[in-house]
Amino acid sequence: MTTSAPSRSSKWPIILNYAIAVVSAATCVVLTFAVYPSWGADPAILLFLCAVMFVALAAGPGPAALASVLTLLSLQYPLLSPDYPFALQSSDILRLGLFIVASVFVVLLSAARKRTSASLQLLLNAQQMMLRELQAQNDKLRVENAERIETATRAQGAEQEIRQTVDTVPALIARYRADGFMDFRNKNWREYTGLSQDNFGGRRWGSALHPDDEEMVEHEWREHIATGEPFELEQRLRKADGEYRWHRIRRVPLRDQTGEVIKWYAIAFDIDDRKRTEDALRQSEAELAKARHELQLIIDTVPVLVLRHRADGIIDYVNEVGRTYSGLTTTKWTTRTSIITHPDDIPRLEAAWDDALVTGEPFESEVRLRRADGEYRWFVTRRVPLRRNGEVIAWYAATYDIEDRKRAESELIESERRFRDAQMELAHASRVVTMGQFTASIAHEVNQPLAALLTNAETALRWLAHQPPNLEKTKPAIERVIDDGKRAADILSRIRDFSKKAPVRMESLEVNEAILDVMGLTRAAMSDNGVLAKMQLAKELPHILGDKVQLQQVVLNLIMNAIEAMTEVGAGSRELSISTSKAESDGVLVAVRDSGPGLPSAGLARIFEAFYTTKSSGLGMGLSICRSIVEAHGGRLWATPNEPHGAVFCMMLPIGEQSLEKLGG
Ligand code: ADP
Repeated sequence: MTTSAPSRSSKWPIILNYAIAVVSAATCVVLTFAVYPSWGADPAILLFLCAVMFVALAAGPGPAALASVLTLLSLQYPLLSPDYPFALQSSDILRLGLFIVASVFVVLLSAARKRTSASLQLLLNAQQMMLRELQAQNDKLRVENAERIETATRAQGAEQEIRQTVDTVPALIARYRADGFMDFRNKNWREYTGLSQDNFGGRRWGSALHPDDEEMVEHEWREHIATGEPFELEQRLRKADGEYRWHRIRRVPLRDQTGEVIKWYAIAFDIDDRKRTEDALRQSEAELAKARHELQLIIDTVPVLVLRHRADGIIDYVNEVGRTYSGLTTTKWTTRTSIITHPDDIPRLEAAWDDALVTGEPFESEVRLRRADGEYRWFVTRRVPLRRNGEVIAWYAATYDIEDRKRAESELIESERRFRDAQMELAHASRVVTMGQFTASIAHEVNQPLAALLTNAETALRWLAHQPPNLEKTKPAIERVIDDGKRAADILSRIRDFSKKAPVRMESLEVNEAILDVMGLTRAAMSDNGVLAKMQLAKELPHILGDKVQLQQVVLNLIMNAIEAMTEVGAGSRELSISTSKAESDGVLVAVRDSGPGLPSAGLARIFEAFYTTKSSGLGMGLSICRSIVEAHGGRLWATPNEPHGAVFCMMLPIGEQSLEKLGG
């Protein structure tokens, strides 16, 4: 508000101020003329004084001075009294004097006020300027302050964030003083170890460090505190639950401007799982290397020639045994078939190899290989393919010496042959012995047709001696002679066949027929011993494959044993039964039953053993030979007690192809 005066005075023209003075003085003159006659001179003077003061106030000292002069003039002449002389009365002089003094004071006061007002205005202006500056500065400071607060808030947030990061980062973080003692651990560190900030008992890491690692870590730490170099190491840190886990530690120094280390920052990562995996890997690698070494040792030491062939069959590896055996220790084997193979075996082996390479199937073959000393020995070689994704990438061949086995085999074959010969000899001898026992019976058997032959011959002679000779009757008699002769010859031929030493001849034969032939030979022996024979021969039995004489020998032996056994029982109850049937298991079953005393209980398991006999004149060879004959035919021979008494000897013979296969096997 105070600032408006100078501006107004400057705006308003000075003339207006003086006009105010003139108008004020004129107004006073008019009013004086109006009031003077009734009020007198003093109120007029006062009125004029008021006008001067008004002008001083409103327009300043200059116009006030003008208003004073104009007042003086109007008070004296011509305004007050036209007839008034210029000579002043003493009372008027006093009034005018006082008026003038008062006016001067008013003018001076106005001038002083104006000066004061001006200086005040200046001061005010200066103050306002200063205020504005202060305001501006204040605004600036406020902005700065706001910025500072924002920066501080941001810094606080960042610090909070860093602290959170440090606490959440999945690692153990610690800070150390320059002397190497820890002065900060992050949350993870504390939680992992379960140790609070000041729970270290004077030790750098308290109980957090594995006792076995303490010396090594301490040594490293001291060294690096001395050099100020960053470093890394692996150590075990104890978890709050007591478990130790491997950690990888990295510590880096923080230096001031002078390069002095003021802090160390450390971070520890859990590498336990990785370490375990690495350890397991290392261990398995070591085991693998060991296994590989052992495998190589085995490959080089097992008494087997080990060869590896490429997919196309070319040899690309020969083990130590192979090189030593052949004596070709430095030679490179680059053929498909081993270079020490017997020339006669190469075509066969190559052909098998060709097939295997095409089919990719393992194969086995016997081959002769030359030893370093030039001798060929028999080997069996077995090659198997190695596949990757179904494709053959190599072949492994294991070849082992079978020379001794081969020799043993041929010796075995030879001894088996000798054994068979001996068995045949034995069987023959046994047959001859049996024949000896049957001499009377045989004689009786041959005697019968011979006696008939004689009778018929005599009859024929008698008919011839008739006069005239009766040829009609002679002819049938001679025909009967021929029949009897044939019967006798037939019996003799069977006896000869039975007793001759002929090689084994396997043929298809009918069991019933063979049995009936034997029965013919034993008929006399049975009737001599009062044995009643019964035959139960099944019809349409399948043929079996075998040697007729040998099988007849078995049946004869069983019948002979039965007759002999039955001599121990009463003459009325001697019964021999021979039956044949088709066995379930595709074979023919022959059973010889007797009503004798039965099998000796002590020797039941031994009756088939050679030289086992309960007879004073027995050899104990019969059943043993019988069993080996039956088994040679692929059959079985066994004995069981008969009901109510006696023994049953059963012979099971396989039919046709079956027995052939067994014989072949
Ligand atoms: P051997 O007739 O020379 O004694 P075998 O081998 O033929 O030899 O017989 C062995 C033994 O088996 C005979 O001594 C006898 O004790 C017993 N044995 C054989 N067949 C019969 C049978 N049918 N009844 C009772 N025992 C028998």
